[in-house]
Amino acid sequence: MTHKFTSIKFLLLSLLCFFIFAGQAFALEPSQKELKDFLAILDRQSKDYGWKDIKLEGIPWEYYRTTIQKKPLIFAVFGGYKSNCILFLGGVHGDELPTVYVLLKFANYIKDNPDFFKDKCIIIAPLINPDGFFAKSPARVNASGIDLNRNFPTRDWQALAWKQWERKCHKNKRYYPGRKPGSEQETLFQIALINRFKPQKILTIHSPLGFYDFDGPSSDLDSFERWIETVSKETKHPLKKFGYFPGSLGNYAGHERNIFTLTLELPSSAPNRGMEYFNKFQPAIVKFFDLQVFGKEPFLKLTDEAIKKH
Ligand SMILES: [Zn+2]
Repeated sequence: MTHKFTSIKFLLLSLLCFFIFAGQAFALEPSQKELKDFLAILDRQSKDYGWKDIKLEGIPWEYYRTTIQKKPLIFAVFGGYKSNCILFLGGVHGDELPTVYVLLKFANYIKDNPDFFKDKCIIIAPLINPDGFFAKSPARVNASGIDLNRNFPTRDWQALAWKQWERKCHKNKRYYPGRKPGSEQETLFQIALINRFKPQKILTIHSPLGFYDFDGPSSDLDSFERWIETVSKETKHPLKKFGYFPGSLGNYAGHERNIFTLTLELPSSAPNRGMEYFNKFQPAIVKFFDLQVFGKEPFLKLTDEAIKKH
């Protein structure tokens, strides 16, 4: 009798193991399908915007998180190195359409010129807010109505985020920071990229304000400013110190975590100007990319060589 029970238990345990493992194996399929479907709608949307030179296949897209509307939060890692990383972020505000083009184009450029980038570490997340981007009328905020550039858990969030939203933004819904910091998957996605890759530099692309802005280690903010002043002249694009907000990336990454964070505000949000902007800003992107950082936090500095060179 006991023996029979043991056999039945063994059988049940085996079946349980089978279903767990089989479940895991099958679980991969929906995620691959989800990515494929997402790339297909992104491809269609790109074609609709006239971004005919963008190819999404052949890029090593990955994703681990989805939005509230089940859209994958995609990124691609290029280069063979795992240190001195640079992180590119686009489409944080879903209605800033050419920012997505510029980064998809940059991903294509890296894919086509792998030798230039083989000893680098580059992470490209071209579409942080897909729900806003794919909305019937593209939206700055995500599907929960939150401005993702006000939702980072910065030290001043609790004290100031709502206060500033009420006083400075007059409760404009476009700048709503959320009920609490770090509440959104899209915010957690950016934090996860920062934690995993520990980038020394971040380039975040927005539109349509038309300037460069920067945040970074206070130990070397002057050199960074001098460097951007030169790039600003060369690319004929103004530099404006916009300051940072409670819950903004510049505050979270640049001010609080000593990451050299450059914001490129494109001059308009018109999707058909994407190619023009890529061509105009490609030299600045490459220069930022080549900018050398040395030292350990909180004494990160740009090298003299890097500053003189520009
Ligand atoms: Zn923006």
